[in-house]
Amino acid sequence: MADEIVEQQTALRQRIEATITGMFAPEDEGLRHSLQAAKEHGLPEIQINPIQGKLLQLFAKACQARQILEIGSLAGYSGIWLARALPADGHMITLELNPKHAEVVRASFAQAGVAERTEVLVGPAMQHLPELVERGPFDLIFIDADKASYPAYLEWAIKLSRSGSIIIADNCVRCFPALWAQEDRQGEIDADTQGLLKYNQLTKDHPELTSLLLANDEDYTDGFNVSVVK
Ligand code: SAM
Repeated sequence: MADEIVEQQTALRQRIEATITGMFAPEDEGLRHSLQAAKEHGLPEIQINPIQGKLLQLFAKACQARQILEIGSLAGYSGIWLARALPADGHMITLELNPKHAEVVRASFAQAGVAERTEVLVGPAMQHLPELVERGPFDLIFIDADKASYPAYLEWAIKLSRSGSIIIADNCVRCFPALWAQEDRQGEIDADTQGLLKYNQLTKDHPELTSLLLANDEDYTDGFNVSVVK
C-alpha cells in the first residue's frame, strides 16, 4: 500500500513537471543538440533541467542582466539558457576546467546561435576569477562547478557583482542528509558536502546578501541557493 502511494506521488510529480516544462520551458533544437553532444562525447549527465534553465532566464531578466558569469559549463546547456536572456549587446563568460568540455561548449553555443555573445575560458575557475575584476561588474553569476570551492567562489562572486546582482549556486540542497547523518554520529562529511554546507551558512548570514534555498530539482532533494546582493 505504501509503495503504491509513493508510486502515485512520483507519477503525479513527473506529470506536473512534464506539463510545466511543455508550457513554460520547452527545449528547442539548440538545447537538445547540447544534450546530445554531451552524450556523444561521454560527458556526465549532470546539467540542470529545463525548468531550472527557464528560472535562470527569469532571474537574468529580473536583474536586467547585460553581463553574466557562469562557473562550470559542462556542455553549455545552462549557458544557452542564460545567454538567451541577454540583450543583443549583452555578454556571458563561462569558466570550464576541462578543455574537452570547453570544445563541446563552443560547438553547442554556435549551434544554439549564441556564440557571438559568449566566451569560454578554459582552466581552473580560481585562476580566471581575479582577471575578471576589470571586466565586471556581472549582473548574474551562476555557480555550478566543484562543490568544495563554493565558499571561495562566493567570495569572488560578491567582489565581481554590484548592488542588485543575483548570485545562484546549484546543488545546495543535497548536503543536508549528510549533515543529519553526522548529527546522528554516522559517517564523515566529504569536502564537497562541506563546501555546500558552508556556502549555505555564508549566504544565510552574509550582511551583503538576501538569500534563499529553493528545492527545485526533479524530486525536491536538490536545488538552487539564490542570493541578491544588497
Ligand atoms: N552548468 C552546467 C549545466 O547545467 O549545463 C553543468 C556544469 S557541471 C555540474 C560542472 C562543470 O564544472 C564540469 O564541466 C566540470 O568540468 C567543471 N569544473 C569542475 N571543477 C572546475 C574548476 N575548478 N574550474 C572550472 N570548472 C570546473
